[in-house]
Amino acid sequence: MDVVNFHDVTRQFGAQSALRGISFDVLHGEFLVIVGPSGCGKSTILRIIAGLEQPTSGTVQFSGRDASSLSPGDRNVGMVFQNYALYPHLTVADNLAFGLSAIRTPKPQIRARVKEVAELLELGDMLGKRPGQLSGGQKQRVALGRALVRQPVIFLMDEPLSNLDAVLREKMRMDLRRLHEQTGVATVYVTHDQVEAMTMADRILVMQHGELHQIGTPDEVYREPATLFVARFFGSPPMNAVRVCVRRSEGVIASHRHGEVAAISRPEAHRELWDTLAGLPTCWLGFRPEFITVGRGEGVQFTVRVTDVETLGPRSHVHALWGDDPLVFVVEHGRPIPERGASVLLTAPFSSLHWFDEKQRRMRPRHKMGQVQEMPEAVSMTNR
Ligand code: ATP
Repeated sequence: MDVVNFHDVTRQFGAQSALRGISFDVLHGEFLVIVGPSGCGKSTILRIIAGLEQPTSGTVQFSGRDASSLSPGDRNVGMVFQNYALYPHLTVADNLAFGLSAIRTPKPQIRARVKEVAELLELGDMLGKRPGQLSGGQKQRVALGRALVRQPVIFLMDEPLSNLDAVLREKMRMDLRRLHEQTGVATVYVTHDQVEAMTMADRILVMQHGELHQIGTPDEVYREPATLFVARFFGSPPMNAVRVCVRRSEGVIASHRHGEVAAISRPEAHRELWDTLAGLPTCWLGFRPEFITVGRGEGVQFTVRVTDVETLGPRSHVHALWGDDPLVFVVEHGRPIPERGASVLLTAPFSSLHWFDEKQRRMRPRHKMGQVQEMPEAVSMTNR
């Protein structure tokens, strides 16, 4: 039995659709990250799981039971927020004990549980302090501890690290993962930060405008993005995306607006891709900056004009125009960096190509794209 099941859930606020037909499950013991830009519906999902919000339509099950009959208090969720929500006049020990005192747990039991949680979170030295005497990271650990003492069925965390500086955030990311491994409590974690999502999640649920784009492991959303939005959300700099016209002559299946882009000279060997692309007037071609190489190589080639270079130390991001389409590629430290204004021949390996239809949905599963990778000299790309 899963911890939570969402089936075709919508949430309407007046004319505003906060959630549109969302279905997913939270599995026992998993760390599920919900990611997406501001206003995409992440917190609404958390609030529905907690019972603080009701769906407009669709069904939610909580530990196998219809959630509409369960009050927030019946669900035993542990919630952790960005602003910690600690009681400033209580000590750390009393903050930790608060949830257990509220349900009249016997005092010796409270003391034992607070001690256990304080040890787990390394809060032992701070039990007598008040929140005002703690750093941001320590406050967040107390907030976690307060959620943990009640042994929740599920943890719900809403941007818990966003008030912390970059160094502490990185440390807390690792601490949270470790805590999750120790407790094994299913966790739903909301963030708009792709790095948090990639580094912490067992699975990532990607949202935009109240719609679910994809649910998958970090590797899947990076390697097999279901939509162009997902493709560009993960990765830094984001995946290049160029709208191309599809032409079918002499094996050419896709053309840049200003000239030929890609050709498949043996369409019979790649019938499915050929048929899919040839049936479309235009589509989107995506390729990741980190896989582009300077010079001629195995893959698709095209010539760009460099417009800007950002030097970041271990690597540089080179911005360029291909026709009038902006794109970016990465040059690793120690390799020659092209100068602004230079004309540069680039190669995008077959393995870095992703095809999306006009609605920006992935056209082929990755394993089938593997076939495309097997046809080196068959694809060529020029820019006129
Ligand atoms: P953020 O990252 O900024 O917190 P989010 O992805 O968590 O955003 P939600 O808070 O779930 O987004 O909100 C989704 C949409 O629903 C937003 O457009 C928001 O304005 C709207 N919304 C949320 N709660 C309410 C409410 N109580 N009344 C009206 N509209 C609401």
